Amino acid sequence: MGRLYAVEIVYRGIFQKTLAKNLSRAIVLAAHKEGKPGISFGRYGDSPERNGIPAKSFAIVASDDLTLEEGMAKYEPKEVDVTIAVDDTLCKGVESWAWYGLQPINRLLKPGGVLIVTSREEPDALIAMAHRKEHPYRLAVVKGTPSFSGLWVYKDDHTDVRILGAMTRLVPDLFSLFSLQEVIAEEWKDPVKATSALRSYERISTVTVEPTQGNPEKPYEFQFPKWHEMREGIAIPSIPMGGAVVDEATGQSGGYRPARNPTFKKFTTRTMRPVVDFDKCIKCTLCWLQCPDSCFDVMPDGMYDANMEACCGCGVCEAVCPEKDCVTMVNEAQFHDNASQWDAWRKDPQGYAAWVKETIAHRPVDRSHGFRFRGQYEQQVPGELSTESRDESPPPVAPDASPQP
Ligand code: SF4
Ligand code: SF4
Repeated sequence: MGRLYAVEIVYRGIFQKTLAKNLSRAIVLAAHKEGKPGISFGRYGDSPERNGIPAKSFAIVASDDLTLEEGMAKYEPKEVDVTIAVDDTLCKGVESWAWYGLQPINRLLKPGGVLIVTSREEPDALIAMAHRKEHPYRLAVVKGTPSFSGLWVYKDDHTDVRILGAMTRLVPDLFSLFSLQEVIAEEWKDPVKATSALRSYERISTVTVEPTQGNPEKPYEFQFPKWHEMREGIAIPSIPMGGAVVDEATGQSGGYRPARNPTFKKFTTRTMRPVVDFDKCIKCTLCWLQCPDSCFDVMPDGMYDANMEACCGCGVCEAVCPEKDCVTMVNEAQFHDNASQWDAWRKDPQGYAAWVKETIAHRPVDRSHGFRFRGQYEQQVPGELSTESRDESPPPVAPDASPQP
């Protein structure tokens, strides 16, 4: 059997769908330039996309047709040479509907494989987010704000070619920079994108992540029912209605926490999370009413606590809250657990107030779920490109002049 290469692209549903498609398609086209057959595909269609939900695309490339055929005779790759995470907060893990529980971002990586992340964070911060792996792997950071766009608009900030340019250095056997630049010329017809790929090739570096590094927590999982435990017909158990429960923080009843799906928690769907300033809350109920995921627990004192295991980070609560800076969406990368904010506020109101002030300073001005007003594209994209590619004119790259790693 020849050599088989598998690349997975982990992306946020809807917002990064086109980015993932562009990446997997270009990988295969560049490999074709070198006589390697390949195929790109999205995860099977029973994984419907929802805003922000972690989703996957794959690119499979082989040294020959037979190896490709053999490699494709499975549902999706069991192990990969490269994992690309196009939002750094995906390093906290991936929950794709209620299939598996939480999957570490590095779960499928082969020993010595490479995890490529688009981020403004330093490698240490990303390593701390990712779960520990039993063998070493490499981490490469393509510097940049995670690229989000809407359903109909593609944010062409060159994230696609910067990742691909980095790949030509990190996995040189897969395709060369020259092959990539041929594809860029044919597909995108933009010499500035070719320059972005070259810059990324030149700048990318890796750190090795050892088994002793990373998040030591065991990802949550659940048992699938055995065939003899399944009920007749299509029966999906509903979530039981909650009621007054004894509050863990106060030991009192009178609050209200709705029951939630134990096998689909949703928190890895978010790239931002709401921070609630309880001192500003006027108990208007709007967040509780409007949250599409019923995340708000009514606490015994009538406050509304966003449950961080259930919150998908949509930002509706921030949008509907009538009080200034009462609910603020903050970059998810700033948080290290899903603990209750209300608990923290009750235990230490002054400390919590200082924490809120410090934390909302990380309010992302450049991180959003795509474009929400006319002109936002023009505001964001030229600014990002100016630091990456437009600083120098594109130099031509000939086959024999292609830089080698
Ligand atoms: S961001 Fe707010 S409205 Fe959206 S799911 Fe989370 S708590 Fe609910
Ligand atoms: S929308 Fe704002 S003010 Fe109203 S209950 Fe929620 S947090 Fe309090």
